Amino acid sequence: MVDPLSLVKPAVRAQELYTLPPRTAAVKVDQNENPFELPEDFKAEVLRRLAAAPWGRYPEFVPRPLLEALARHAGWRPDGVLAGNGSNELIDVVLKTTVGPGVRVVVPEPTFTLYANMASTLGAQVVRVPLRADLSYDVDALLQAGGPERSGVLIVCSPNNPTGTAMSEADLRRLLASWRGLVVLDEAYQEFTRGVGVLLLAEHRHLVVLRTFSKAMALAGLRVGYLLGDPALVRELDKVKLPYNLNRFSVEAATLALERYDEVLRPSVERLVALREALARALKAIPGLAVVPSSANFLLVRCAWPPREVHAALFERGVLARDVSRYPMLGDALRIGVGTAEENARTTDALRAFSLARGGR
Ligand code: PMP
Repeated sequence: MVDPLSLVKPAVRAQELYTLPPRTAAVKVDQNENPFELPEDFKAEVLRRLAAAPWGRYPEFVPRPLLEALARHAGWRPDGVLAGNGSNELIDVVLKTTVGPGVRVVVPEPTFTLYANMASTLGAQVVRVPLRADLSYDVDALLQAGGPERSGVLIVCSPNNPTGTAMSEADLRRLLASWRGLVVLDEAYQEFTRGVGVLLLAEHRHLVVLRTFSKAMALAGLRVGYLLGDPALVRELDKVKLPYNLNRFSVEAATLALERYDEVLRPSVERLVALREALARALKAIPGLAVVPSSANFLLVRCAWPPREVHAALFERGVLARDVSRYPMLGDALRIGVGTAEENARTTDALRAFSLARGGR
């Protein structure tokens, strides 16, 4: 009998599965989703459009109206846009297109786990560069990690998951000016700050920007992401992307989300930014908690108690947060998504009760 595990690449065997236990709670703030569900009339219109489309036929190879709407929305050219089944798919496409065995992939840490997993599956030499103690990006260290030739793929997540910290425009420009390989800027959370990636694209053809409909755009369940980059590079990425990666449902929903951005989504994002600031103030006032300033829709909270215990106590009170204490540098941290005002009040109450019970230290 052949052991099937003997057939698996060692780089894959060495990885941990990227997953979460199937838990839910009244207050679900563990995946940085938008808590404001899209309105009924929005859903009804998507379903109406879907019902009018042929389900037995493949979608178009190129969802051109969506790409054009994305280009208008982002302020970039339509032939420089690629849409994906979530931005995860596009990270995969970018790495498959540019990374082979031994190629250097530089990732800051802590950051989004999937980058290093995908890169190591492809046989990359993954170089991890710690953030500074205050969780800001260390641009000099990132540049050094590229060797004297500053080559390889550099992945920067800004605002960064799970820290919420962003790279400044000046630092981004400095990186782009020196780096000779590809720079992947993951702006999954850009709507909650002033994402600057798209402003840099015209001057830097070795930059690609990734964005998603899963966070600010309130469509995580329908899986849509997009990439902005140089048209010549996007043509190559398109060869690697699977055909028909977006189903009709995703295309219709994303298209309508762009049509109604100003009416429905912009107000939701503005509300979340205000709620984030209010939640940060409330949590800061709780003895035993320290809040890292965030540019995203979640807060990294350092705790005077083991995060596993705080997480369990929150869960008992109906709040599902994310224990990120296994990430490097974050041994004392929880990640808490910004919810509705009522949800944030419940999170705050639960944390205050926990702090009081532990003597507030
Ligand atoms: N990038 C970052 C930084 C993320 O936090 C996430 C989701 N957790 C993703 C990409 C993937 O998002 P999606 O595939 O849903 O677009």
